[in-house]
Amino acid sequence: YDDRDGWIWLDGKLVPWREANVHVLTHALHYASSVFEGQRAYGGEIFELTKHSERLKKSGEILGFEIPYSVAQIDEACREVLRANDLQDAYVRPVAWRGSEQMGVSAQRSKIHLAVAAWYWGAYFGEEAIKKGLNLAISPWRRPAPYTAPVQSKASGLYMICTMARHEVQAKGYDDALMFDWRGQVAEGTGANAFFIKDGKLYTPTPDCFLNGITRQTVMNLARRRGIEVIERAIWPDELESFEQFFLTGSAAEVTPVRAAGPWNFEVGDLTMQLRKDYLDLVNRRISNS
Ligand code: PMP
Repeated sequence: YDDRDGWIWLDGKLVPWREANVHVLTHALHYASSVFEGQRAYGGEIFELTKHSERLKKSGEILGFEIPYSVAQIDEACREVLRANDLQDAYVRPVAWRGSEQMGVSAQRSKIHLAVAAWYWGAYFGEEAIKKGLNLAISPWRRPAPYTAPVQSKASGLYMICTMARHEVQAKGYDDALMFDWRGQVAEGTGANAFFIKDGKLYTPTPDCFLNGITRQTVMNLARRRGIEVIERAIWPDELESFEQFFLTGSAAEVTPVRAAGPWNFEVGDLTMQLRKDYLDLVNRRISNS
């Protein structure tokens, strides 16, 4: 991703894409002291931009650092990157991290950096997944307990197990992994939240050890607007057999149906596709956000 034309916002100014570099002694590279966001622009407008910027600030605070820009400044940096790169439909990636001023676990004096990049990113799981549904394996790794990791922060360090899980299952031909949590409850995908449908009702695990995604919250509202009951509670694997439909939600993944997860099969059903359409109508401003 580093060798291309374009502009990246880095610490307050736009720099040529190829020159947006960091030093190898960057604290974040050694100790995962970084947090990031991921949001999409549709027709030049970033969906729920301020919520993403607020979450970025909060993610940093949870890791013990303050990003030296306000939410409004982060919003503006994201818009500036879209304009500079002449992008209408794009994925926007802000990232904040501890710099190279100090080495060692403790790095109180390190400078906090912020960068924003944006690029075109089509369907996260590909177009075919939307028609056929994803084929998931059960992740060999589990989401950590809230007392062992900063689970409400979109912290880069938490993605180590996501990348490992996804690589491991992709090597066996699966699209992604469904992760359980440390208790053995159903948690989420490696980069998206999980929803299930049974008897016309929507079920989703309580986000007590993973991100309460912005897309997740949006989809819950869209479902309620249609009069669909939304049930948020612990879901154990033995209940998966009884669910008829399963889909993943995320800013990148949008709403993507799942056809199988380990030994459990699901249909790519009407309700999933209706909620997918509602979501795309909302982000493209064909329907309003209330
Ligand atoms: N869980 C994980 C692990 C993710 O990476 C994401 C994407 N940020 C989500 C859930 C969904 O979050 P959102 O809907 O806010 O993009």
